[in-house]
Amino acid sequence: MSNFSYKDIYIEDGKRVLEINILPEKYCNFDCIFCPIGRSKNKIDTQKSFDEVESSLIELEKKIEDTKPELIFINSKGEALVHDKIDDIIDFIKSKDLSVRLLSNGYLLAKDEYIKIANKCDEVIGEIKVITEEHFKKVQRPIEEYTLKEYIENMTLFNKQYNGKFIFEITIIKGYNDDNKSVKKIKEIIKKISPDKVIVVRIDDEIFKKKLGISDEIFEEISNELLNV
Ligand code: SF4
Repeated sequence: MSNFSYKDIYIEDGKRVLEINILPEKYCNFDCIFCPIGRSKNKIDTQKSFDEVESSLIELEKKIEDTKPELIFINSKGEALVHDKIDDIIDFIKSKDLSVRLLSNGYLLAKDEYIKIANKCDEVIGEIKVITEEHFKKVQRPIEEYTLKEYIENMTLFNKQYNGKFIFEITIIKGYNDDNKSVKKIKEIIKKISPDKVIVVRIDDEIFKKKLGISDEIFEEISNELLNV
């Protein structure tokens, strides 16, 4: 039995990418109202053991042999860093001479134990979705003591010492960060974090799109501004 799940292999910038989820169900330190995975029953930011890692790695090895990826993208049901074997999983992928991209929401990236793990990856994605403390609490419903200030600071600190490619993903959400003042603030955050690459996305989940999605025009306008900081 394996706890991992996979997406079909795809090509991105000429590279074969295999996307893998290493969590058996959602574990995250946030509980975003628009999370496509659903509610966070397991809101945690410390590592947890899951069964079946050995058999999951055997399956991963077979997947790698069958699909011949060049990059493994760890994109999990929540925050992959809370898997207590993530270090071994990354080492295993690296032992196959493959690149690793890790998706994290970014909050944990300044903790020593997680810095060490993320530093092993060739690419790390951190995110931002709202830009006021009030919205952070209300919309992303993180662990009690978290603040937006610390969130941004954590990604900034991580990227200062990181030698890989840090990708910063910004989600534009109607009514939360799609006005001029917010865009200006996001630009400041981009400058502060100083990522290698910026990705701008919007809410496209069918359930939340109607309320929180933005039009193509606004999306293009904001993307142009943020991609040229
Ligand atoms: S950070 Fe991502 S995975 Fe976690 S609750 Fe928010 S949208 Fe879901």
